[in-house]
Amino acid sequence: MSDLTSIIREQSATEQIAAIKSGALDARELFEAYRSRAAADTFNAFTWVADEAPAALPAADTPLAGLPVAVKDLFSTEGVPTQAGSKLLEGYRPPYTSTAVAKLEAAGASMHGKTNQDEFAMGSSNENSAFGPCQNPWDPERIPGGSSGGSAAAVAAGHAPWALGTDTGGSIRQPAAMCGLVGLKPTYGAVSRYGMIAFASSLDQAGPITRTVADAALMLEHLHGADSRDMTSVGLREPIAVPSRESLEGLVIGVPAELTGEGVEEGVAAAFQVALAEAEALGASLETIHLPHAEAALSAYYVLAPAEASSNLSRFDGVRYGNRVEDADGTLLGMYTRTRHDGFGPEVKRRIMLGTYALSAGYYDAYYGTAQRVRTKIAGDFTEAFKKVDVIATPTSPTVAWKLGEKSSDPLAMYLSDICTIPMSLAGIPGISIPCGTSQGMPVGLQLAAPAFGENLLLGVAHALERTLGFDTGGAIR
Ligand code: GLN
Repeated sequence: MSDLTSIIREQSATEQIAAIKSGALDARELFEAYRSRAAADTFNAFTWVADEAPAALPAADTPLAGLPVAVKDLFSTEGVPTQAGSKLLEGYRPPYTSTAVAKLEAAGASMHGKTNQDEFAMGSSNENSAFGPCQNPWDPERIPGGSSGGSAAAVAAGHAPWALGTDTGGSIRQPAAMCGLVGLKPTYGAVSRYGMIAFASSLDQAGPITRTVADAALMLEHLHGADSRDMTSVGLREPIAVPSRESLEGLVIGVPAELTGEGVEEGVAAAFQVALAEAEALGASLETIHLPHAEAALSAYYVLAPAEASSNLSRFDGVRYGNRVEDADGTLLGMYTRTRHDGFGPEVKRRIMLGTYALSAGYYDAYYGTAQRVRTKIAGDFTEAFKKVDVIATPTSPTVAWKLGEKSSDPLAMYLSDICTIPMSLAGIPGISIPCGTSQGMPVGLQLAAPAFGENLLLGVAHALERTLGFDTGGAIR
């Protein structure tokens, strides 16, 4: 194993940045090592890889010291293909860069690749990508999770030190869990959505997929902030602290009965129990809580997210973005129809139809209105719970990564994989997944959630647990 490969295998992003700053590691050599690993990636994790290192890498005295970052293809990147997993956007190169990517670059990160994803971030397995499915580096016969599957696979394979993802209902946390990584969905509004191709605007958030909790904190520090170009962005209320917590003395962890019982695979339940026991050993106390409306979360989400998507995706009409397909009849309507018919994949079409129906006159209140009321109740459940407990713990996903193709023909089975992450998304609160063991040889994720803007609390608790759980996040790096 070359020195650089063992550095990639052993060191977190934070450690690599420190090594560059101290002069122990050359940023250009490291960039080239990751770039060539990404170019040789066999998991289909990337949809674009840089041809070479930029002429001038950010200086070692910038906060992120020129470290490469892999970026989900949902983020607009000036002059660089931004295809959102869709044939409709194949070859599209935006004229501007999203705020999230611009902020990371301003802090000294250097993008070396764009990553594969489910089309327009709709999916849980990365199989809904027009550029083909992505494989899980822990077992190439299995899915990496989704929709940020390429970002998670890239980091798990050591083809990126860390990656940027997006999460609407679980798309950072679930693939991080399935690839043995840390994934953080910040509080809604913490990170600007400007330039992030919209799926469901009231839920979409950008966030890190990393090897360690400290890496997630470091990336978030440079991601968050209010942005005048996204009026829902407010940033965080306090600076992100370097997570250093070791004891959980005095911490009360709520374990929701509704999200930890039925439907959770045996091996996942076992790993979850081990994580809870470790938390107790560190001084935390556990309390069973109830989120009485959580069982309606999935149904509400699958009305709200498609409704917003049907509206957001109306911009893809063959005129303003991406590809145009002329119809034989030569009319404008024919061009719209043919473009959308040929450009969108089946899951995206299903969501556009569901959403359009839910928003149509006469049904609006029965579907969209009811789902909004359920969403308010779910947020209320969390408000009540956080009067009694500091953080909430659940498995991130009820199962480990499944075999490619296993659930492709059963949308409901696919949707169920987000049952534990969607409630937090609807409530707008932060959630983090950290690896907590394995089942069937595949990583299992522990999800922790905190009240809105509780990122420092969340990162501290996750850091303390990560230390005692001692999971090897480099276990799939060759
Ligand atoms: N899997 C969920 C869906 O398909 C969540 C996706 C996401 O968070 N982008 O909608």
